[in-house]
Amino acid sequence: MKKTTEPTHWKEATRLAQIGNHQDDQTGAVSTPIYLSTTYAHPKLGQSTGFDYTRTANPTRQVVEQALAQLENGRYGFATSSGMSAIQLVFQLFPSGSRFLVSRDVYGGSYRYFDALTQQGYAQFSYFDTLEELKKTIDADTAAVFLETPTNPLMNELDIFIAAQLAKEHQALLIVDNTFLTPILQKPLTLGADIVVHSATKFLGGHNDLLAGAVITGSDDLGEKLSFALNTTGAVLSPFDSWLLIRGLKTLDLRIKQQEKNAKKLAASLKKEKRIKEIFYPERGSMISLKLQSPEQVPSFLSALKLFTFAESLGGVESLITYPTTQTHADIPKALRESYGLTDDLLRLSIGIEAAEDLIADIQQALEKTAAP
Ligand SMILES: *Cc1c(COP(=O)(O)O)cnc(C)c1O
Repeated sequence: MKKTTEPTHWKEATRLAQIGNHQDDQTGAVSTPIYLSTTYAHPKLGQSTGFDYTRTANPTRQVVEQALAQLENGRYGFATSSGMSAIQLVFQLFPSGSRFLVSRDVYGGSYRYFDALTQQGYAQFSYFDTLEELKKTIDADTAAVFLETPTNPLMNELDIFIAAQLAKEHQALLIVDNTFLTPILQKPLTLGADIVVHSATKFLGGHNDLLAGAVITGSDDLGEKLSFALNTTGAVLSPFDSWLLIRGLKTLDLRIKQQEKNAKKLAASLKKEKRIKEIFYPERGSMISLKLQSPEQVPSFLSALKLFTFAESLGGVESLITYPTTQTHADIPKALRESYGLTDDLLRLSIGIEAAEDLIADIQQALEKTAAP
């Protein structure tokens, strides 16, 4: 990790395409070299090139960490081995016994982690559905608020600006998981959040070939503490994976725009479709959830799809369809899941960069082959 370089007047798409270029004066490498060396020679006793040991800092990782910090309008970026290790890194900031408030409809793995911390007696987690509920429950004992917006998989939007005000009034931190919209569509730090986390496995990497996480903050104090915690516990992104993430980020702006364009077209066509009970799309981003008329239709609908791949994960160039009940959200007890609308007729779509007409046609033909209940 390192402080980012001065912000430039370049537009985001320009900065993304240029990540890592003009950094290696010796060779002029346009693509960032992959520095596999774990250790770096000291010029003299008490001197350092800025790199000593790769857990602390690595030249390839540093390029992607600076890019992540700039992209989220922060000053400190950290690239971790997965989205979950990014979340775990953030929760290392708090003393044991801390109390947290979390948006109800979160990624199942985050729920599982928070539940494990609760079971082990390390921390207490309570959940809120709306900001009104957050306002009623937040108090001086709240260490931090953690939220996803739009939520996963029900796509409820929470106002980050208002949540940040509420957190500040109670000296609590606001942590936002920005995996779904990415900084191209939403910059939580600019809206008042203290820390942003990502599963970079999803849109930031974008090609379903990399497991990675990111943590970004604009605060010197938090930046220092996160840097200490990451160096101490060591869940850093490897040099090769850092390079893959750089490569993915170069096309982030292009991909997000195409994926969102496709999602808007598909959502508009699904809304006219009588064979679909309900559609959840916040009119931005490229994640869409839908409910079939009955859960019995799910197996035949999934088998009939030819273009959409039935798989976990999201955000890549290939369109995927996920069944949260048995996949991403299986760790949330059924009664609890259903109490807030995550029922077993719900499917979640991640829209890729294919031609929208092909995606629409695939859903149509699958609906035709799916027997009515
Ligand atoms: C996938 C995901 C995570 C976890 O990230 P991994 O890279 O799989 O560890 C966290 N939050 C959200 C919103 C996710 O979709």
